[in-house]
Amino acid sequence: MTRAMRKRLQRLMEAKPPLIRRGDPQQERVDTLYANQVRQTLEILAGLSGDNAATVATALSRSLHHACQQAWQAAAEQFPEAPPKIHCRQGCNWCCHEPLQVHILDAIGVASANLPPLNYSLPTRQRASLKKIFKACPMLVDGQCSVYEHRPVICRAYHSTDVAACQRVVEIQVAGRQIPMDLRLYGYTGLPQEATMKVLEELGIDRRPVVLGLAVAALQQDFAGLTGNWLRGGDAFDPHTVQE
Ligand code: SF4
Repeated sequence: MTRAMRKRLQRLMEAKPPLIRRGDPQQERVDTLYANQVRQTLEILAGLSGDNAATVATALSRSLHHACQQAWQAAAEQFPEAPPKIHCRQGCNWCCHEPLQVHILDAIGVASANLPPLNYSLPTRQRASLKKIFKACPMLVDGQCSVYEHRPVICRAYHSTDVAACQRVVEIQVAGRQIPMDLRLYGYTGLPQEATMKVLEELGIDRRPVVLGLAVAALQQDFAGLTGNWLRGGDAFDPHTVQE
């Protein structure tokens, strides 16, 4: 982290924490979830020193994924009518047929799993229209997610209330990929990511989306180098970003 970034981090740590609006229990839970994740992200980043970027980046990824998991559980309890409608089941992988657009922290989480080396490429011209590609995700092995514990936020938040719609999307290749889901559950699960992204943005750390397979393959080659550059505010993930 540069000196300017460290100053900004210090300011953020000394600033008032995000507001928690009391009164409406649902609003209070949402605000608390957000504020907790901001605090955790700042605390982890405060531990960054000259040579521990890989450890800090992995801790950030773990913290984010853990918070998303907790948010999913809290949301499922908060909206008791939601869980019975969910059609997602172990071994169902219709939604795993797309080159995923994820955050760098997701790629870091996946790359930190014990994976065999990934041989993955995607022509640049295809990076603007990932949703039109129906190839299996490179992490899908024998029909199962091989990185389930470390799966990206989008895979945690995404769910379906109609598996027939998921099947149709892949079988007849519907480019829009609209899947019916409970948007409250989806939004709630993604909330910790919003908090983390906000902190990264304020510090000037790259928060552009990347193509999961490309970023993981690159991280497998040089985890320490890429994470070090990224946390210094560099653009090491530039070749793996989603082109818009
Ligand atoms: S990372 Fe796992 S859950 Fe996500 S799309 Fe790939 S195989 Fe599916």
